[in-house]
Amino acid sequence: MQLLLAQMTSNTSSRFSKPCPACGRVIHPSEIPLVDSFPCPSCGEWLTYDNRYSIAIWTGSILGAIVIAFHLGYRDANFVLVATFVTWVLGLLGLFILGLVVSLPLKLVKGKPFDRTASLHLTDKSESDKNPNP
Ligand SMILES: [Zn+2]
Repeated sequence: MQLLLAQMTSNTSSRFSKPCPACGRVIHPSEIPLVDSFPCPSCGEWLTYDNRYSIAIWTGSILGAIVIAFHLGYRDANFVLVATFVTWVLGLLGLFILGLVVSLPLKLVKGKPFDRTASLHLTDKSESDKNPNP
């Protein structure tokens, strides 16, 4: 029933609301911080955007920023500062426009520290290896 309600609200509310792939809760854009990954407000699973386009956007932003900073006449330290700033502006603008054009799905982040519970068994084994002391 809750899942049905969540699906109904996802249809009626804006298409920028995305369901959590782990628990199915619809996450409103206002709950998503402007970072690479964030925990689901409902189940706490770490989520990230499917960022297949972001590498192309950032590469284009860096190249564009270098051209813009060079044409504006900046050199040396100022060139690096301006190019970095313009890269951020172009990159965030590109990601923002991409978010308007394409609805990127959310996906689970893999390789977070709490996945490594299996390594506890290895430490147990190494401690028992120390016991036979001649
Ligand atoms: Zn969730």
